[in-house]
Amino acid sequence: MLTDYHVHLRPDDLGAAATEHFTPENIDRYVEAAARAGVSELGIAEHMYRFTEALTVWNHPFWEEWAIDDLDFYCDALVNSPVKVGIEADYVAGAEEKLDRMLSPRPFDYVIGSVHFIGDKSIDTEEFTVWDDTGDADEIWRRYFETIAMAARSGLFDILAHPDLVKVWGRARQMPSKDLRFFYEPAIEAIAETGVTVEVSTAGLRKAVGEIYPAPGFMEMCVEAGAPFALSSDAHEPGQIGFEYPTALDFLRDHGVDEISVFEGRKRVATALTPVANES
Ligand SMILES: [Zn+2]
Ligand SMILES: [Zn+2]
Repeated sequence: MLTDYHVHLRPDDLGAAATEHFTPENIDRYVEAAARAGVSELGIAEHMYRFTEALTVWNHPFWEEWAIDDLDFYCDALVNSPVKVGIEADYVAGAEEKLDRMLSPRPFDYVIGSVHFIGDKSIDTEEFTVWDDTGDADEIWRRYFETIAMAARSGLFDILAHPDLVKVWGRARQMPSKDLRFFYEPAIEAIAETGVTVEVSTAGLRKAVGEIYPAPGFMEMCVEAGAPFALSSDAHEPGQIGFEYPTALDFLRDHGVDEISVFEGRKRVATALTPVANES
């Protein structure tokens, strides 16, 4: 079986309205694209910060601008559809109870935890960027992976999204001076301790870094730690479902991984990885 669990029903565009995208017709476009890509297990994980409920967790100005939609309208649209019900939820240090109050009463099959911010500065957007002139790469990488470790230990998440997102800009931003494994270590310890599933995401191949998340070094350490894995594309349109999956399958197999995590009602089952079917 192949999964694609980290999928958005709309682009990251303020004008992309919930009423136009959380519809049976739009979900059908995704289901059909998944079938064409040989993905038999499709789940949707919309960004938490686009729902007004997120403002009960954090009042960052970026969220205040983007939090427009109703989370229950989104959940209802997915519950009554053939796809798994997920969400991409940002970890906000210190707001664990508020996150739990938002997530646990709702009908998710899985919750994907993301770290897009260090403190109130953004890793992957130009706005609110952490990568300003004073940004020290060693310090940014250290804090990023420590935040990933806190996200894993929070117990709020089933899957850790794009686990080395801090590399997203590639050489366009400063790189740390030390061996990258030094920075991975705290995150790997938390992954080993908690058994949280680690996302292998082909989205990095579409970004400046041009590399799967996580990097081979991080992946090797996860395998040694006995981590389970999830496979996703972080698609923001149907055409990106199963993006570059043959590359991801080679990557997984090269690391000795032949099972992938499947979720239902926030319970994980390991399933055999099967090859991508030819497009028909
Ligand atoms: Zn993300
Ligand atoms: Zn995403």
